[in-house]
Amino acid sequence: MTQPTVYLIDDEPDMLELLASAVEMVDMLPVGFTLASDFFQQVTDIDTQSIMALDLHMPEMDGIEVMRRLATMDKTPQLILMSGHDEGVLHSAEKLGRAHNLKIITSLTKPIVLKEFQKLLVEQKGVSQHVDNRSTENRPKVTAAELKKAIERHELILFYQPQINISTGALAGVEALVRWNHPERGLIYPDEFILLAEREGLMKDLTRTVIDQSVRQEQLWQHEVDRLEVSVNISAIDITSLTLPEQLAELLAENKLSPSKLTLEVTESALMGELVKSLDILTRLRMRGVGLSIDDFGTGYSSLSQLHRVPFTELKIDQSFVFSMLEDDEARAIVKTCVMLGHELKMKVVAEGVETKEHLDLLREIGCDFAQGYYFSRAMPADEMTKRLHSTWP
Ligand code: C2E
Ligand code: CA
Ligand code: CA
Repeated sequence: MTQPTVYLIDDEPDMLELLASAVEMVDMLPVGFTLASDFFQQVTDIDTQSIMALDLHMPEMDGIEVMRRLATMDKTPQLILMSGHDEGVLHSAEKLGRAHNLKIITSLTKPIVLKEFQKLLVEQKGVSQHVDNRSTENRPKVTAAELKKAIERHELILFYQPQINISTGALAGVEALVRWNHPERGLIYPDEFILLAEREGLMKDLTRTVIDQSVRQEQLWQHEVDRLEVSVNISAIDITSLTLPEQLAELLAENKLSPSKLTLEVTESALMGELVKSLDILTRLRMRGVGLSIDDFGTGYSSLSQLHRVPFTELKIDQSFVFSMLEDDEARAIVKTCVMLGHELKMKVVAEGVETKEHLDLLREIGCDFAQGYYFSRAMPADEMTKRLHSTWP
């Protein structure tokens, strides 16, 4: 194994030296730059397993601009952000980086605790040696033509992840998550094809098969468990399709399913597009009795008035806040505020990304209604879900 590289970018030479020796001590290769522009000039082939510790505050080209440049590149290192500013600045920088699709390991406030820095590097080294099978790095990219064929051949299937009522512990619903059951490559996850579908005009067909399958599945399950709801993700493009409400109503009628059993999840950012048209469609869906959930709440830019205008029935707190709420005071404050806001607006509140009992306990204390996450179960195929309809969770 070659030594993993750690790029260090900081305008203070003393700091660079300190960090470099810390990197060497954990058996990794430090490559330091006091000028970010030198990094871009000198490093042409970036290994995606490499790490970059990046100071945000630099006189020549600051960390924010470095992230912007990285975002335009094919391969990028994984980032550790460093700043002498308060945590608020680091958090917004982290968010910005993620919005640019960069992998941010974490952010550290200066003065850097070297032990902590080294611990992160060692953990990261461990992770990259056991690259999980979801890693998309060495896999060939799928093409629009392949995806189109896959939809036609019914290779897109649904996995279901349980949603648990926090106060009773009972199964309250499931979220349908699409997977591509590829004949040679096995399961392909949505992060590899959703954007492609949106870009290449395949979203309508994709959503149709997803809604179709989930409605049929729900029709079977509703006899086994009363009040089991199914949630389906729809994209920005779907909520500008003026025929969606009618198509959906027909499908529900065909399957003799009450619209109240179905919830459509729309991300906050999807609303940003054609707001007037989306409002029209979402309102008509709601009038027909379909539930509407605002997904990834807290990561987008929807204003409170927008939230009030769209007749949402459910608010789904983004998992990034739930993950970190035990250690991070700000994340916890956001989760609490989302629960309060949702309840004030008469919405059910769901927390996703619940991975531990501690997460669940805190959510219960905060008064959140429903929880979803690996603590209970990952998403599973329909037949497995069927077997577990009456089990206790986790
Ligand atoms: P999402 O709607 O936010 O779905 C939640 C994602 O988080 C799922 O990933 C789920 O497997 C994962 N997850 C659930 N609990 C945990 C947990 O405790 N820890 C962690 N680390 N992750 C958890 P998945 O299935 O890979 O889906 C990714 C995204 O792809 C979804 O995010 C959604 O935006 C999109 N997507 C999935 N299915 C569909 C679909 O049928 N149509 C559309 N338009 N988008 C879909
Ligand atoms: Ca969702
Ligand atoms: Ca989500």
